[in-house]
Amino acid sequence: MDTSPPEPRLSALYQELILDHYRRPRNKGMLEHPTHAVSLNNPLCGDEIDLQLLVQDAVIRDVRFVGRGCSISQASASMMTQLLKEKSVPQALVLAGRISAMMQGDAAAATDKSLGELRALAGVSKFPVRIKCALLPWNALSDALKSSA
Ligand code: ZN
Repeated sequence: MDTSPPEPRLSALYQELILDHYRRPRNKGMLEHPTHAVSLNNPLCGDEIDLQLLVQDAVIRDVRFVGRGCSISQASASMMTQLLKEKSVPQALVLAGRISAMMQGDAAAATDKSLGELRALAGVSKFPVRIKCALLPWNALSDALKSSA
């Protein structure tokens, strides 16, 4: 019997985008000299994220991740790394807040262009068990930025 959480049904276009990031994750790997590093997991689904940041003058100069888990957690991490480069720390935390709002069903956040491809994950908000998957990399980001290097 399959006991894994049900797969959310998202629009075909968004599903394709999520699978593309899952199969070909952007910015996957480790940084040589990260200023911030956080590992987080989501035991509900078995997702794991190791996130590394290079922050200089309060700007995210580089970001990489290594992860395992479902397509939603890994696609969210991949899309997040694309969005974070050259963002200031306060801008990154605002984005994390917008994603969190989108996952709580905030319609304005779901159409916020600043979220880029991450809007593909808006439909996940209808699947409470998967929200933690989508937010895992963002929680790692918040933890990283709030901790000192
Ligand atoms: Zn997951």
